Amino acid sequence: MSYVSEVLQEVVRRNPGEAEFHQAAKEVLDSLQLAIDANPIYQKQGLLERLVEPERQIMFRVPWVDDEGKVRVNRGFRVQFNSAIGPYKGGLRLHPSVNLGIIKFLGFEQVFKNSLTGLPIGGGKGGSDFDPKGKSDREVMAFCQSFMTELYKYIGADVDVPAGDIGVGAREIGFLYGQYKRITGLYEGVLTGKGLTYGGSLARTQATGYGLIYMMEAMLAAKGIGLAGKTVVISGAGNVAIYAAEKAMALGAKVVSLSDSTGWVYDAEGIDLAAVKEIKEVRRGRLSEYKSYRPQAEYHDGKGVWSIPCDIALPCATQNELDGEDAKLLVKNGCIAVGEGANMPSTPEAVDVFLANKIYYVPGKAANAGGVATSALEMSQNSMRLSWTFEEVDARLKGIMVNIYHQISAAAEKYGVPDNFVAGANLAGFEKVADAMLAQGIV
Ligand code: GLU
Repeated sequence: MSYVSEVLQEVVRRNPGEAEFHQAAKEVLDSLQLAIDANPIYQKQGLLERLVEPERQIMFRVPWVDDEGKVRVNRGFRVQFNSAIGPYKGGLRLHPSVNLGIIKFLGFEQVFKNSLTGLPIGGGKGGSDFDPKGKSDREVMAFCQSFMTELYKYIGADVDVPAGDIGVGAREIGFLYGQYKRITGLYEGVLTGKGLTYGGSLARTQATGYGLIYMMEAMLAAKGIGLAGKTVVISGAGNVAIYAAEKAMALGAKVVSLSDSTGWVYDAEGIDLAAVKEIKEVRRGRLSEYKSYRPQAEYHDGKGVWSIPCDIALPCATQNELDGEDAKLLVKNGCIAVGEGANMPSTPEAVDVFLANKIYYVPGKAANAGGVATSALEMSQNSMRLSWTFEEVDARLKGIMVNIYHQISAAAEKYGVPDNFVAGANLAGFEKVADAMLAQGIV
């Protein structure tokens, strides 16, 4: 049995029931086979065994009191996956689906993604099965304060720097930051995605979505294709989807859809983003309200955005939201490129369909790295105690995304699989982490 297969078998045996973690580990390790074969030192140094085992996994009780006076208990997580190239960095997810396997898959992906940014950040992820949907501001604050009362022991500006993810935006980061500062007395850049009045970075809100479009623009330009005039289908209606839509439209593309957990909209004339921002960012409402702004648009309950014919598909909702059948439908309808704004939104079957049909497919760990890259820029600004202009941060973000495209396409070439950006992203992300781990000895 090959070294890679042995390690994968052990991942499954040792982490029972963690399907998403198994999936992420398999996808990465399968592509590393080429690098592993070329460098026997990796096996000798037990590099893969170390890479798939988080440095530290923290799980804790999060008790809080709801508006009816009832005691509620959630489970909190922080997985500090790998600190070979910098302090742990990665978001916090608040969603009822959260469990250890999901946090581990996200933390594992984050290690390679953060490496690709070229910035000195290791990988980590955290969160809770708390559902912010339908909760009052006071309940969200009570949860966040309780969560941080345990988490603060394990984080710090040079130790581990959490940020947002699904269910964690400016409101939650504010409550978490306030509690950290109150307990520790430290005014430090311990979280990113902060508000602009207390150390946040301009362009962080837009960064993941804008970064995704900068990546697609760079990748398509290398193939002689422009974004202007292209029809784009986007899933999701959170921060990533909204700002991907905004940048795609600014570059002349037509974005015709968005979705949330209850349904999806199709607006053939192009989505009215001001309406979506009001529904989602101001009122925290549902996309079903979109028709009251745009009566000519269609609203459908359930899943279905991938049935809309498009040139470019951007899954920006959540893991495994686009399966093999969806991928076949996209191909049949003429889609030429897919870029992942979410983490692991395409199932392994969908990825196989994209690769077999020569779709230009950029996986999340490269395509959505703009968010965490800009978080690292926020950390730099905090350390320097100054703040850059929007234009300055945005220009750096664009430079980083273009650089990631060059890295992943060069790695794909180098290993003889041109345009396979899955392999390219995994191999390029791995190299830096592996070298740093080898240099630092068996730790
Ligand atoms: N949650 C985002 C991600 O998946 C951002 C993490 C961060 O800014 O630290 O990369």
